[in-house]
Amino acid sequence: MCYGISTKQERIKAATERLNKAAENWKKNEPNAIGYPINQEPDMKEFYKWYVASNIPDISMNNVGNPSNDSPYNLHSHEFESEVVAYFAKLYGFDPKQHWGFVTDSGTDGNNHGIYFGRKKLKSKSPLEPIIYVSEEAHYSIKKLADVQNTELKLIKALPMGQMDIQDFEKNLNSHRPALVVIAIGTTFKGAMDNQIEIQKILKKKKPPAFYIHLDAALFGGFLPYLKGDVKNIVSQKIMGFDSIAVSGHKFFGFDNPMGIFVTTKNVFEHINPFRVEYLAGAVPTISCSRSALASLKFWWKLNTVAPDFFAKEAASLIANAIYLHNNLRKSGIRAWRNNHSNTVFFARPSEAIMKKYSLAGEVSKEFGALAHIVVMQHVDKEKIDQFISDISKM
Ligand SMILES: *Cc1c(COP(=O)(O)O)cnc(C)c1O
Repeated sequence: MCYGISTKQERIKAATERLNKAAENWKKNEPNAIGYPINQEPDMKEFYKWYVASNIPDISMNNVGNPSNDSPYNLHSHEFESEVVAYFAKLYGFDPKQHWGFVTDSGTDGNNHGIYFGRKKLKSKSPLEPIIYVSEEAHYSIKKLADVQNTELKLIKALPMGQMDIQDFEKNLNSHRPALVVIAIGTTFKGAMDNQIEIQKILKKKKPPAFYIHLDAALFGGFLPYLKGDVKNIVSQKIMGFDSIAVSGHKFFGFDNPMGIFVTTKNVFEHINPFRVEYLAGAVPTISCSRSALASLKFWWKLNTVAPDFFAKEAASLIANAIYLHNNLRKSGIRAWRNNHSNTVFFARPSEAIMKKYSLAGEVSKEFGALAHIVVMQHVDKEKIDQFISDISKM
């Protein structure tokens, strides 16, 4: 820290030098970051040009309140946030007049609202405590959030390729308690999607007093709706009938800081205060009061400045490159697997030198032994894949 007698200019100079050193390191590590589902092509420079030129950094903006209502606080970007929500509501097949949503802090923030709103909706239908059902291979945020919201959690077994085991779900589903099912549309390690149709069949057959379905589509929710063919129906509310969906912004869409999107139906939104608790009546509907105005502006900027077919091209190329990686690993004699429509390829764990160089995450699977995975994001192109394959055969 720069204490002592100095001018502001000197302090800025010292801080800049320190940050520049760190930035060199970040830039050096960025090309090999292929183990995590983060798009390393956020491309936000033009946005910052506008931001700085407009002098907005001298204003403290805040999106406190409901993005679809007037806010008591004037310095907000709700107008832009609402347009972002409307774009995604349409993309995910929600009725244009019967949805509600907001720009979240992250995929986890969206999941937190899925569980919170789910609990409230279920409470409006049954006085009994709900049980959260989620596959053991779903993202750990669900387990943590069940703990945060003090809700019983039932982990359901997963099949070898990572999908929720429907027979185990049927066996464990309690017909006497409301069910809050979190469906993984893309598990963290194997990139598996749970079968929503089969899950709903079991719910309708075993008839718990009420049920609520939240889609954790943090990564896959970004690219699925832009793929050709029926696969986009998986994230269509109209076709699948789920109650809410959470998607990360910094994963597929690419931002320089974490954010996300949460969309639910108007019906769910109207039940988040089932007992008309007085102190909640006029309250902010989101769990956080203060929310980033900048995140919504960045999202809006990206949606409005990319070419109309930009995301469709990117989505197609993620899948094509994941197939390329999968095929080339197998050609090199490495055991490798990929789920249908997934950009995640998992394979026999390579040497520690490779794990470290490419910051790969590992996992041990009952069926396949020690594994690592690569999440093929926008920056993982054929050249990078070739480099990886060449390294893995040498190192
Ligand atoms: C990344 C991820 C999350 C967590 O999202 P954050 O935006 O990192 O908070 C949750 N679920 C799944 C399936 C994910 O891939």
